[in-house]
Amino acid sequence: MSTPLALQFVTSAATADQLPSTGVPEVAVVGRSNVGKSSLINALSNHKGLAKVSKTPGRTQLINYFALGERAAVIDLPGYGFANAPAKVRAAWQPMIEGYLLGRDELVMIMVLVDGEIGPTKLDVQMLDWLRSYGRPHTVVATKHDKVKSSVRDKRKKDLAAKCDLEPRDVVWVSAAKHVGIDRLRDLVRTWVEPS
Ligand code: GDP
Repeated sequence: MSTPLALQFVTSAATADQLPSTGVPEVAVVGRSNVGKSSLINALSNHKGLAKVSKTPGRTQLINYFALGERAAVIDLPGYGFANAPAKVRAAWQPMIEGYLLGRDELVMIMVLVDGEIGPTKLDVQMLDWLRSYGRPHTVVATKHDKVKSSVRDKRKKDLAAKCDLEPRDVVWVSAAKHVGIDRLRDLVRTWVEPS
């Protein structure tokens, strides 16, 4: 097992402007609610209760800032696509996320989480198209690898990648539950935040 990411919750913010200007590189995590974002953050840090903080009522719609050691950070963005979210919540989400993803100087990589069991949703594809249209650096991470039967895995990997307009090798598959791909993703995160 590789060394867990040393993540520590620092603060929550309602807009990108309220985040501290640290100048250290940030990796953001985005995806629809229930995609497995909290489980993944917990697995990357090997700290079960860590992402609970982002599930605390009142914080689910905020940007959560986790320091990654002293020279980097991981940013947990609110999940999109709640079936029952009130219009007000949905209306607040867009400027918050867009403000962060387009305006944050510290941002070096955006992990776009896609549910590996159900494949990319329309909103996931829209998010990818939108990031591409602005040339924002991103990596697709497919979650819940353990939920895909081994007999259909190869086909699923091809299909999921194709729907994201990617090659299968460009998608990082993980299972937070079974610790699949977590070591590789930790290494990727470390590479992304390395000073160039
Ligand atoms: P979030 O809303 O994106 O933060 O998603 P959560 O991390 O809360 O996960 C949503 C649901 O998916 C929960 O029931 C988790 O237990 C489940 N889940 C998350 N990751 C995995 C995984 O790797 N494997 C399996 N089998 N279930 C997972």
